[in-house]
Amino acid sequence: MPNPAAKDTSAPTPTTHVTAQDEVARICSDLIRIDSSNYGDDSGPGERAAAEYVVGQLAEVGLEAELLESRPGRATVVLRLEGTDPTRPGLAVHGHLDVVPANAADWQVDPFGAEERDGCIWGRGAVDMKDMDAMILANLREFARTGTRPARTTTFVFFADEEAGGVHGSHWLVDRHPHWFEGVTEAVSEVGGYSVSVPTPDGERRAYLLQTAEKGILWLRLHAHGRAGHGSVPNDENAIVRLAAAIGRIATHEWPREYIASVKQLLDGLSALTQQPYAAGLDPLLATLGGAQGFVRGTLQDTANVTMLDGGYKHNVIPQSASAAVDCRYLPGHEESLLATIRELAGEHVEVEVVHRDIAIEAPWEGSLVESMKQSLLRADPGATVLPYCLSGGTDNKALATLGITGYGFAPLRLPADLDFAPMFHGIDERVPVESLRFGARVLGDFLRTC
Ligand SMILES: [Zn+2]
Repeated sequence: MPNPAAKDTSAPTPTTHVTAQDEVARICSDLIRIDSSNYGDDSGPGERAAAEYVVGQLAEVGLEAELLESRPGRATVVLRLEGTDPTRPGLAVHGHLDVVPANAADWQVDPFGAEERDGCIWGRGAVDMKDMDAMILANLREFARTGTRPARTTTFVFFADEEAGGVHGSHWLVDRHPHWFEGVTEAVSEVGGYSVSVPTPDGERRAYLLQTAEKGILWLRLHAHGRAGHGSVPNDENAIVRLAAAIGRIATHEWPREYIASVKQLLDGLSALTQQPYAAGLDPLLATLGGAQGFVRGTLQDTANVTMLDGGYKHNVIPQSASAAVDCRYLPGHEESLLATIRELAGEHVEVEVVHRDIAIEAPWEGSLVESMKQSLLRADPGATVLPYCLSGGTDNKALATLGITGYGFAPLRLPADLDFAPMFHGIDERVPVESLRFGARVLGDFLRTC
């Protein structure tokens, strides 16, 4: 029996805490309202305001994070928490604070208004990736309030500049301040862990796609050379014509299909779940993924898309040069073969310049971290299936891979069956359901405590 005389008469300690799922929508909205558009140069607002917001939210609960600027306005936030078992290898959990620009005229809502409509938060970054930033931040606040520690010593990072290749963000931090990742062996971040609803013989089932591989990036510029001349004089060395012919050859080239392990495992798993065989043809199987099939189609082979064109300066002048940009994405191990193919297709009068390149990565679909991600999802959504997949784009995991860190995409979201999720990435009317965010906050918290 407690001694009434010894009773503490000061204000009672609150027994109910604000949890991650209570705060995640508010934090996501706050972050969306901070415009951190990345135009690929320093002309945007930068990430500094968003980074200060993150530092402030952490300071409020007594966590002291570090804000690092790679150049004025380009800010990254880092925080390291010791795990309950510090002898285990470290983990990195990271998001990026920048977003791709949004053309407000195309949107139904203000892209930086974070309006709540039809149960969703609308705005640039709602899925790429202020949603996951908010899940991480909300969990860190819950951990601090409740004295919880992650299972593994964890470096939490909110990067600058992911949308322009991470030069001023992840690559900079990894090159200049690698000590933040000392002892870290694995990482989790974006574009994975979301659900798709697929038809099965027993009705519709949810499958969560966990990202286990990323294609590599080769941004090329084609430079066509020719003979300048008057627009009225026949000229069979026209640089624009040479460039156009090269573009035509590249655009119509059929890249051979090759199923890397992640793709094969996805197709096999999906086929088992839907009872849809695919040996004869892939289309019916891919169709079961609905809108998410776009993500998968880009991972069946290398790709090369012409994205910019530059040539000529006067209606009656044949220019001596013309150029085009080509965005190439290659499967692991295909970098040199893709480049050789493009050079051959470009032809003798068109030079191929490598403007930017980044590696392809592939992580194993096994081991304790994969098991932890799966179990956290399945505890929250029993009866679902978890499958691996390869991302056709890239994330900051590429930069971390240069330190030998194995990266996965795990930003958990249970999505309504009718939400066409894939086009939200860099698309118009980007939005995330509030319930999905709350689900994600719970799953991520569970994962961090148990992984
Ligand atoms: Zn992203």
